[in-house]
Amino acid sequence: MNAHLSKPLAVITGASSGIGAATARTLSDLGHPLLLLARRIERLQALGLPDTLARSVDVTDADAVAAAVQEAEALYGPADLIVNNAGVMLLGAVVKQPADEWQRMFDVNVRGLLNGVRAVLPGMTERNHGTIVNVSSVAGRKSYPNHTVYSGTKFAVHGMSESLREEVSQHGIRVITIAPGAVETELLSHTTDETVKADYQAFKDSIDVLTPEDVAAAIGYAYQQPQRVTLREIVLAATAQAA
Ligand code: NDP
Repeated sequence: MNAHLSKPLAVITGASSGIGAATARTLSDLGHPLLLLARRIERLQALGLPDTLARSVDVTDADAVAAAVQEAEALYGPADLIVNNAGVMLLGAVVKQPADEWQRMFDVNVRGLLNGVRAVLPGMTERNHGTIVNVSSVAGRKSYPNHTVYSGTKFAVHGMSESLREEVSQHGIRVITIAPGAVETELLSHTTDETVKADYQAFKDSIDVLTPEDVAAAIGYAYQQPQRVTLREIVLAATAQAA
């Protein structure tokens, strides 16, 4: 048997760049077969990881997420881990920001995350085993300038994770919230307010921010704990990040 198939399937959303891509490499190195989801399929394929199914899926499409999970489970067996990582950060002042940017953030960061949860949860509940990792942010615990809507979506991720844990703990399922500070990824590039973007970039350039691998290592560490141990929340930020 291929070494990767002795470990259970891990699903990662938003695996085409940044934290998701680094988490894919980390979990693959740990020996897991993977289902990688994002819209940019070529970026998923370029990772070149073994025993990996890559599918171009928008996480806001619940049916597409569920179908991809079913396809991967038919190949590699039941999903024991999902890392709900796909997210968008469109910073800006509420008074200026186009309302469709609010909508996109809530659709991807909140509804997309729920779609990931629901695609794996019935199987995990039946097996009384599984781990759900939800990627939030330090902006899901406190406020920052121009983060109002993004912060709202990440407070929602924190809140949903806490409540979901109450739903699933009796089934032996762990819910883990990962809350990073600034990480060097493509996340900021989608912000459309150029002044806000430049200010945040200047902040990032002024300190030694986290790498995607730093966050992936925390996810790998949490997942590798015995199933009876849930690291409920990991908050990690660059040492030089003051706020
Ligand atoms: P990136 O922009 O590098 O990665 C975001 C990922 O999400 C990409 O793979 C992107 O893939 C995917 N994605 C976005 N929209 C969708 C969608 N509709 N359907 C499917 N996939 C989607 O940023 P990060 O790696 O930084 O972001 C990962 C997570 O980490 C996010 O939830 C973010 O909020 C969180 N985070 C990031 C921090 C940072 O400073 N970078 C700090 C704290 C939290 P594609 O475009 O191919 O669909």
